Amino acid sequence: MTETSSDIDRAAGWLRAGGLVALPTETVYGLGANAEDPAAIARIFQVKGRPPSHPLIVHIADADQLDDWVEEVPVTARLLAEHFWPGPLTLVLRRGRRVPLEATGGLETVAVRVPDHHLALALLSAFGGGVTAPSANRFGSVSPTTADHVRTELGDAVDFVLDGGPCQVGVESTIVDVTGEFPSILRPGGVTREDLEAVLGIPIGVPSTSHVRVPGQHPSHYAPRARVVLVEPEKVVAEAKTAQELGHRVGVLLPASLTGTAMTAHAVVTLPGSMDSYAHGLYGFLRELDQQGCDLIVASLPAEEGLGLAIANRLHRAAGPRSSA
Ligand code: AMP
Ligand code: MG
Repeated sequence: MTETSSDIDRAAGWLRAGGLVALPTETVYGLGANAEDPAAIARIFQVKGRPPSHPLIVHIADADQLDDWVEEVPVTARLLAEHFWPGPLTLVLRRGRRVPLEATGGLETVAVRVPDHHLALALLSAFGGGVTAPSANRFGSVSPTTADHVRTELGDAVDFVLDGGPCQVGVESTIVDVTGEFPSILRPGGVTREDLEAVLGIPIGVPSTSHVRVPGQHPSHYAPRARVVLVEPEKVVAEAKTAQELGHRVGVLLPASLTGTAMTAHAVVTLPGSMDSYAHGLYGFLRELDQQGCDLIVASLPAEEGLGLAIANRLHRAAGPRSSA
């Protein structure tokens, strides 16, 4: 981490010139472009291999700028922004005129957030506008949580990589739709449902994982190369043994409660006990098992509370049916 103010200036220069800048946030690394530059936005989709109908998140420097990007700010949105920004919460609101349809996948709504990372905030301030950024990985694969992940996966397709070290949270933002009568969670993430409910004072809906209706969410997403199989925690060891004996190169995400258990497997990652550390490490663990040549990853779901909800959602997605697209 040797970023200086000149790196921020160079990154801002690339954004102004229509370039792509990978930027660190507290969730995952983003692949950023000027949110008002349709040609630059088109390059994001091209580099990611992402269908252009999948909307992006517009990142801004400060909650005070929200009004510049959306049609109106309902009271609930104002409250959530005041409470959780900067932070891993994305609000879906009605699109303001400033936001090109290219950034929203043609939708009349726009997703906006203020990231909680000093370099992202420095870049947004230096640039002065909004930066639209999906995760800086190829479509469908595991999100990058270090600058090296971005360099390895996207290489020269990115004009500038701003290295901010490992992402602190490690899973994507929570996306909350505040366009309706009641807010609803479209994607669980770094801000927990319990945190949201405590601030709003009402229960808040989460779609069941099998019926996620966020555009841009396909059955398989956040997926490593290896196939992912989910089993009950007490079946992890037996499942790994059977698959390994059948000739698979099995990687295991071993629940913390089973630390030290003897295993038959190609590679084992023992998970940390805290959900914060689990989320922080999740994508790195999946990448590591890919790197070790595993073709099958056996894992189990954490309890769906707190950050466990986001982790379980990502593991479900990683285990989803693979499309050939
Ligand atoms: P990613 O960039 O890979 O984290 O993806 C950004 C996420 O934000 C995707 O899941 C999008 O579907 C979601 N998103 C962006 N804009 C909207 C919107 N207007 N309505 C609903 N979801 C959105
Ligand atoms: Mg993504």
